[in-house]
Amino acid sequence: MSDFDEKDLKENSEEKKESDYEDVCFICRRPESKTGKMFKLPNNITVCNDCMHKTMDTVSQFDYQGMLNNPSLMNDLNKNMNSQGFPNIRFVNIADLQGEGGIPNKQRMKKKKKAEGAEPVLDIKNIPPPHKIKAQLDDYVIGQEHAKKVISVAVYNHYKRVATGTMDEIEIEKSNMLMIGPTGCGKTYLVKTLARLLDVPLAIADATSLTEAGYIGDDIESVLSKLLTAAENDAEKAERGIVFIDEIDKIAKKKNTNSRDVSGESVQQGLLRLLEGADVEVPVGANSKNAMVPLTTINTRNILFICGGAFPDLDEIVKQRLKKQTSIGFNAELKDKFDKEKNIISQVTVEDLKKYGMIPEFLGRLPVIYTLAALDKPMLVKILKEPKNAILKQYQKLLELDEVKLEFDEGALEAIAEKAMEKDTGARALRAIIEEFMLDIMYEIPKDDNIGRVTITREYIEGTGGPVIDIRSISGENPDHLNVIEDKSAGEE
Ligand code: ADP
Repeated sequence: MSDFDEKDLKENSEEKKESDYEDVCFICRRPESKTGKMFKLPNNITVCNDCMHKTMDTVSQFDYQGMLNNPSLMNDLNKNMNSQGFPNIRFVNIADLQGEGGIPNKQRMKKKKKAEGAEPVLDIKNIPPPHKIKAQLDDYVIGQEHAKKVISVAVYNHYKRVATGTMDEIEIEKSNMLMIGPTGCGKTYLVKTLARLLDVPLAIADATSLTEAGYIGDDIESVLSKLLTAAENDAEKAERGIVFIDEIDKIAKKKNTNSRDVSGESVQQGLLRLLEGADVEVPVGANSKNAMVPLTTINTRNILFICGGAFPDLDEIVKQRLKKQTSIGFNAELKDKFDKEKNIISQVTVEDLKKYGMIPEFLGRLPVIYTLAALDKPMLVKILKEPKNAILKQYQKLLELDEVKLEFDEGALEAIAEKAMEKDTGARALRAIIEEFMLDIMYEIPKDDNIGRVTITREYIEGTGGPVIDIRSISGENPDHLNVIEDKSAGEE
């Protein structure tokens, strides 16, 4: 193929890629779906009908002849040109426009597909029933049985509602959720796993970065921009996605404050509209609305919102309420029992959350509230070895490529879990601990081809001994015939 043909082909395919995206007006930044057909100018610049007419009007009203016949005006204009510029004329650096057409694809919307003949994204018959959703989650998420059950039913109902649309007068309410649980217990992981299983776009946003519009921070609509990006700028796909807003407890109403609460209560107010279902103007490919960012409209009616937070000290509020209840007609002895109860947070009510600083309207739009338990030692051990993509399995696979078998004895797993418990960051600590001691193993093992099996022991984790290294038998590579040599020095190498 000649060079010329190749270039032609490349340009053609690029054109095709471009045509997946809507054109955006270079002047007002509105997409084609809002402005109607656009004028196409050289350098891939597109201008909408309105802007083109406005520009033509301005140009035709300008009295060039009068200007040219008046030398003193001409002089003034030339003098002022650099400091003030021509009225209504913007100077554009042509070099910026070349190739890209001025606006990157990141900021462009995908064209809407034609309605007729298009397959529905979610078919009611294809939504897996709750027990199947939960069974799938079980493969990845350990424990948290109650949370998995609630989330499976809520998601099933949500997508049933999406699929039926407004079929009849009984409108099924949105099942937005509020998830309460300590850090590292699997809140984000649960949502991520769910979105992957359902194959819907997912946006994870942090409530702490949000502020009321106009203040420093991300606009509230930016959570939808993230969803749009996750859906590859396909609005229809985004409108069926999931938005997870983490750290929701951080936008609780501030107590005893005289100043405007731009990152707390105002954000809760701002989120109301999204949670409920409304047409929202969303900046495409940016975190805040400004003149240079194109906007698009997203309807949030079918977007599932899941809010999550650790809500520290919420258990105190629950405890106080329970104590108050029992103090009527019971003796003081009973009051102590709540102090010892471990999972007191699971008895949380909407009233407790209001007391914490969440506004009633906000809670009203999150009808499904549930808690996740803190992870205990047996659960951490299970997380190490049982999930489909468990950390230990990942390391075993890595060493398998070197034809080395990696094993952990029960004592080692317990020691890792104990260390993680001390850090108090839930399952998040596990990876850091394992990475620390696996570094030596991953460094030393490839040095020696004779090593056939490594067994990690409690002593190795605690730093009082080394791993057990088994050497491959000379007769063959079969790791079933291993000469066992306990090598205590390997850890110290
Ligand atoms: P958070 O509750 O703070 O959102 P994450 O969901 O981010 O915590 O959990 C951190 C990591 O810990 C996850 O990426 C996951 O690998 C692991 N993890 C936490 N809880 C579980 C669980 N119940 N089952 C399996 N893995 C878990």
